[in-house]
Amino acid sequence: MPKVTLDILLKHLKTHFGYDSFRGQQEDIITNLLDKKDTLVIMPTGGGKSICFQLPALIFEGLTLVISPLIALMKDQVDGLNANGIKASYYNSSQSSDIQQSIIERVLKKDLKLLYVAPESLAGLQNIINETYISCVAIDEAHCISSWGHDFRPSYQELSFLKKILPNTPVIALTATADKATRQDILNQLKVPNAKQFISSFDRANIELEIRPADGRANQIVRFINQHPGQSGIVYCLSRKNTEQIAKKLNQNGINSDAYHAGMSFEDRSRVQEDFIYDKTQIVCATVAFGMGIDKSNVRWVIHHNMPKNIEGYYQEIGRAGRDGLKAKAVLFHSYADVIQLRKFASGASNEDVQIAKLDRMKQFSEATTCRRKILLSYFGELLQDNCGNCDVCKNPPQFFDGTLIAQKILSAIYRVKETEATGTIIDVLRGAQNANVLEKGLNKIRTFGIGKDISWNHWQHFIIQLANQGACEIAFHKNNALQLTEFANSILFNGTKISLTQPVAYKELAKNKTKTTAPKSTKTNSLFERLRKLRYKISLEENIPAYLIFSDATLKEMEQVRPMSEDDFLTISGVGQRKLEVYGEEFIAEILDFIGSKKKTVKKSDTHLVTYDLYKKGLSIEEISIQRKLKTPTIYSHIAKLFLEGKPINIYNFITKSDVEAIHKAKIELDNPTALKPYFDYYNEQMDYFKIRLALSVLEKTKSHKIKMIYILINTIFSYF
Ligand code: ADP
Ligand code: ZN
Repeated sequence: MPKVTLDILLKHLKTHFGYDSFRGQQEDIITNLLDKKDTLVIMPTGGGKSICFQLPALIFEGLTLVISPLIALMKDQVDGLNANGIKASYYNSSQSSDIQQSIIERVLKKDLKLLYVAPESLAGLQNIINETYISCVAIDEAHCISSWGHDFRPSYQELSFLKKILPNTPVIALTATADKATRQDILNQLKVPNAKQFISSFDRANIELEIRPADGRANQIVRFINQHPGQSGIVYCLSRKNTEQIAKKLNQNGINSDAYHAGMSFEDRSRVQEDFIYDKTQIVCATVAFGMGIDKSNVRWVIHHNMPKNIEGYYQEIGRAGRDGLKAKAVLFHSYADVIQLRKFASGASNEDVQIAKLDRMKQFSEATTCRRKILLSYFGELLQDNCGNCDVCKNPPQFFDGTLIAQKILSAIYRVKETEATGTIIDVLRGAQNANVLEKGLNKIRTFGIGKDISWNHWQHFIIQLANQGACEIAFHKNNALQLTEFANSILFNGTKISLTQPVAYKELAKNKTKTTAPKSTKTNSLFERLRKLRYKISLEENIPAYLIFSDATLKEMEQVRPMSEDDFLTISGVGQRKLEVYGEEFIAEILDFIGSKKKTVKKSDTHLVTYDLYKKGLSIEEISIQRKLKTPTIYSHIAKLFLEGKPINIYNFITKSDVEAIHKAKIELDNPTALKPYFDYYNEQMDYFKIRLALSVLEKTKSHKIKMIYILINTIFSYF
């Protein structure tokens, strides 16, 4: 096979997948594979693993056989490929023998580029598994092969035979999670010990991390969803009952949601899952059984109603948000009751120690006062140099103060009740509560009774948790969670040792939220994005494929920003390839034109920038033109760029600085001259507005044509001497 240049790869990337540039290590991985070398890819969820074998599959002469564990996953991937006009299919036991036969015939006729199959079904493909037909083998979710991994599947262990039958065929194994031992095991089992390994960072920087105290969590969840109208999300709950309660509560509040748990029938679960994937259900309240094999790229948030058992689970669950790379949120509600509950679950298990240790790490993470992402990544052995800036601690750093007096009050209350009472009773004592429990035990007679009326219940709880975290007291889980004193407590009580505590920032914020967000925020239902989303949903029903496979949210967002009005412009959008242009272009462009046209119908689309020009000549500012024309300012800027390119006397540097132009020039060279605006936008970390990028590009375009003209004149002048 002749060497494939980067140009050719990029052309395939744009034509078939609609993207302008490779992400992370994709290019290196693809090049390695095209060199027929075995390859191991560790890349986080949403990192873009699929393209690493799907794009080479288009270039290889024969078939790429893709081993995948779940039928549901296969179907989505194949639907996605077909939507991009790529010849792909899957083969599994749920198909009739006629269909199976027709698939085999397509392979024999070399009419398929990719075939997805579960390991169990490989036996049916014996006739075609040879090097006449197969050019590449991709093993998706490769961690399933290793009993060290977290999702071992015995059928995956039979895959070693592939390398025996196909000794010269490159194998690519891909997974989002595999520690060192698992990686080695994957290579050994697949008989590709020398595979080149490509290990990406584990970080999912687009997911904002937040931990909140769990008081009134159901109401908090309703408020959160109202603040994020229309967005797809998952609420993870510890118990089946919780999933149903929360789903009910959401529905009562007019929020479209379903429950999902293992106690439901197979049919019900499949329906909930499918409705979620198809955007028919906005929110699923589920136990952790939900999510495996869900590839939906536009899940915008994940809420943990309860604390997960361990950090591995937490990371996997929040990883289902934001696969499209757009901003996403993960909110975890932290409650002590959950910790106690999880401890109970763990006790008596054969690996109780390990489970408790993992739970402790989860708890420490939830109570941390330093960057959460740093803690998370360090758990997975990765060092993050700087604080992430995208977690609650980074955004709202805790304020420390001298908490010695508060600590002394708490510790002496613990001392006075002889270390026999749990947190709740200690707080009741401090606040002087006259409830039955307190009175029966005579706790109203002790000296610390009522010395902390001025501090709220929640704040006391917050301070006690901090004392426990700093080792000033302990929770005796085996003694009804009674608080106990430590050495450190003694030195605070008797030796004047000082202790710093943090203000309960989150509580303050919540109190503020409560007053203002009872009514849903404006849902912006008539924004262009919403209209494009509705169109996408309509098409998804017609074609019976999940909406996100038609266009991702990221692609719709870019359409909203750029507002392509011609096919050429439409093709510049990231996520629009040749087939999607052909199949969906017209409808989406019509929607965009209609959106703009509905505001001003009289002007012909092609002349609309000239109207802007008239107003510009009258000396109106961009904002004034925008108001007068009822068009958004980015549109007016795009008119300015167009007018400038057409040679109208526009003073472009009124709108953009020379250094902006230089910056875009630099990006243009470095990014290898992409056609779309988005790569520039990403290049400057979303800090440079689209209108500036557009204006700068038009300046560069103008200078280029100017330079060519100058050279032309120069050459003509020289020749005129001869
Ligand atoms: P993974 O399998 O690693 O979880 P996917 O292959 O499903 O991730 O990719 C996640 C999302 O990123 C998909 O929507 C995919 O189309 C998109 N994507 C992949 N590669 C690129 C790229 N080079 N540019 C833009 N988007 C990409
Ligand atoms: Zn952080």
